[in-house]
Amino acid sequence: MKILSIDHLGIAVGSIAEGAHVWTDLLGLTSAGTETVAEQKVTTAFFPVGESEVELLESTAPDGPIAKYLEKRGEGIHHVAFRVADLNAALEELKAMGVRLIDERPRKGAGGTRIAFLHPQATRGVLVELCERDD
Ligand code: ZN
Repeated sequence: MKILSIDHLGIAVGSIAEGAHVWTDLLGLTSAGTETVAEQKVTTAFFPVGESEVELLESTAPDGPIAKYLEKRGEGIHHVAFRVADLNAALEELKAMGVRLIDERPRKGAGGTRIAFLHPQATRGVLVELCERDD
């Protein structure tokens, strides 16, 4: 598998409206807008940093994965996303190595990306997302 860069860091927040303050006022980043991904029950806000981004994640439903994460662990870093050249090939490679995956097949992420998560039990507690972009 060829990892190209850290695409983004996913950070779980109770509220984007309140959480954005840290990234804009304290750290001087600028929001590139928000997007709701209905099937993930999440609204995301992106703050570009060079080639990468900070992605804030706010739950849109009490039974969504981010709501459950906040209940268990509170606000903070949720996942690290690596950009790969070929997501299908990367998943096949990981499956062949017996790596436990949350997503066996790519699904739709924010910003027109294709994404897949590895299971954190396979990565010593770090939730890893692989992400492929068209551009
Ligand atoms: Zn992500």
